[in-house]
Amino acid sequence: ADAALYHAKALGRNNHQFFTEELNRRTEQRAQFERNFVRGLQAGELFMMYQPQARLDDRSVFGFEALVRWMTPDRGMVGPDEFIPLTEETGHAITLGNFVIRRVCADIRRLKEAGLVVPRVSINVSARQLASDVPLEQTILEACAEEGIDPAGLAIEVTENSLLASDEHAASLLVRLNAAGLTVSLDDFGKGYSSLSRLKKLPVQTIKIDREFIRNLPGDEDDVALVSAVIAMGRGMELDVIAEGVETEQQLDLLAREGCDYYQGFLRSAGVSSPELISLVLQG
Ligand code: C2E
Ligand code: MG
Ligand code: MG
Repeated sequence: ADAALYHAKALGRNNHQFFTEELNRRTEQRAQFERNFVRGLQAGELFMMYQPQARLDDRSVFGFEALVRWMTPDRGMVGPDEFIPLTEETGHAITLGNFVIRRVCADIRRLKEAGLVVPRVSINVSARQLASDVPLEQTILEACAEEGIDPAGLAIEVTENSLLASDEHAASLLVRLNAAGLTVSLDDFGKGYSSLSRLKKLPVQTIKIDREFIRNLPGDEDDVALVSAVIAMGRGMELDVIAEGVETEQQLDLLAREGCDYYQGFLRSAGVSSPELISLVLQG
């Protein structure tokens, strides 16, 4: 009965669901995930990778995006797309979010201690973190204070979908994050329920064009038109535009022609671990 109730709630309440064997299997899967995740977090199996974000004109790195990874003992490396939804279903999204914020701040502190100038680091945050009882800016400011780093060296990435649930609440949170010195980026732009009226109201400084629209450049004419329109719109609204998932020189050429200023993708570099990050920053 509990499994069926849970399923009904997950489907957005106001509906009824019958118990099935499949639900039982998923409940078991969640329970197993939860045991492994709590153990893995304690055992230090989770860590961050940092992917460079670069300027298009000279390809210089102006920032890094922090991406979480889980090295499991039995299944090898597991990506966030697989385990983040499960942390949300099992009530561990805030635990993971706090771990990520702490770890990023600690990694930045280590770079600073090595005498390096650290470019801006972007942290992805989930809908649950935006809706948390403990305001996100408080969690971030506390972590920054503890590690002795400047919040202005951080950015957060939110998706449009994660803002859907509570426009008012989310907008005021983003204003407070801005006031604390953080930059806000709208991630995966164009992929979810994009609303231009919402974009106009939200206090964001950067939009990231989802890699789905970059993938088929320059061959797909529709995608060329879309990307070009988003870049022009970003310019008009005085927003920075970052193209995600750039893998080829042809894609980069097209983005340059369309006037895009920033990019990120395997062409520049995939994510690097924090020790590799030190040598990357050392090389300038
Ligand atoms: P995202 O924020 O849009 O991150 C970009 C994803 O694209 C990353 O996958 C990155 O490895 C991948 N990527 C980068 N360049 C390329 C490229 O040139 N080609 C291709 N095919 N892929 C590229 P990853 O690390 O698996 O992350 C997936 C998603 O998981 C992220 O999408 C983000 O929404 C979420 N995520 C990652 N780390 C965190 C985290 O610490 N907290 C939260 N809440 N979400 C996270
Ligand atoms: Mg992101
Ligand atoms: Mg993205």
